[in-house]
Amino acid sequence: MKIGFIGLGNMGGPMAANLAKAGHEVQGFDLAAPCPDGVRKADTAAGAASGAEVVITMLPNGAILRSVAAEVIPAMAPGAVLCDCSTVDVDSARAVADLAQAAGLGALDAPVSGGVGGATAGTLTFMVGGSDAAFATVQPLFDIMGQKAVHCGAAGAGQAAKICNNMILGATMAVTCEAFALADKLGLDRARMFDVVSTSSGYSWSMNAYCPAPGIGPQSPADNDYKPGFAAELMLKDLRLSQQAAEAVDADTPMGARATELYASFVEAEDGKGRDFSALLPRFVGRGRG
Ligand code: NAD
Repeated sequence: MKIGFIGLGNMGGPMAANLAKAGHEVQGFDLAAPCPDGVRKADTAAGAASGAEVVITMLPNGAILRSVAAEVIPAMAPGAVLCDCSTVDVDSARAVADLAQAAGLGALDAPVSGGVGGATAGTLTFMVGGSDAAFATVQPLFDIMGQKAVHCGAAGAGQAAKICNNMILGATMAVTCEAFALADKLGLDRARMFDVVSTSSGYSWSMNAYCPAPGIGPQSPADNDYKPGFAAELMLKDLRLSQQAAEAVDADTPMGARATELYASFVEAEDGKGRDFSALLPRFVGRGRG
């Protein structure tokens, strides 16, 4: 397949490389990042998109996605599919899908989970919004870049699934970290706490698979001085998207709101930027209620 790939950063670079490795003809464009091996460099976003059957974008945010989409949509052939894999707000995802459809194109929002490791290994999970036909066109590419693609519904449904998942993750990680700090003060050994909770009703991915306490449970960023992993500022971005969406549809999300506040102060007023999102645990340790 002829593929245009725009946004070749930490995630997009390895994703594009995997498509090229699988034998697809990939033309890439990025304002700054280099083109990975096997990907032909285009001079502009429109250049990468022209003649492509599928154009994939992997960009920082909704505003950038909207501006790139406005540039590439006119360059795309009718019937081609624009597939955005970035994590962006639901409104931007739907606006870009509307623009693409008005130009006779297919459109998908297909954010991912799995991080840079998953992008490199080709084991991402895609959460996809858009039409059945567009999903069917891109599915073979999801199979190369990932291990699973779930068609969640119409345009915007992929972004909705992503931010709901990450709102749960942010709130769950925060309470897992504060529970460890509480256990410390109660004199409960962390390893015993893990043994109990990981097999009791408090278990979660944050506790069982990504334990924020060093030396306990499977290997996680806590065992590597909290180097990300999943950086706290990326968690903050996703939590803010969840709150923006909640506001837009008048949904009551008090736990998501509190987790957003907590990560905002961790990233912006404390030392959280550049650390893994599980580094809330050392933040809680030693703090009192005041
Ligand atoms: P990144 O900053 O490494 O990559 C983004 C790339 O987009 C950069 O190379 C930048 O130069 C390029 N870019 C910006 N504006 C552009 C433009 N107008 N035209 C062309 N290129 C442009 O970010 P990333 O970590 O690769 O993340 C990309 C997206 O994936 C984000 O939406 C992020 O939230 C999401 N995501 C990231 C992770 C992760 O662990 N890094 C996990 C899941 C989802």
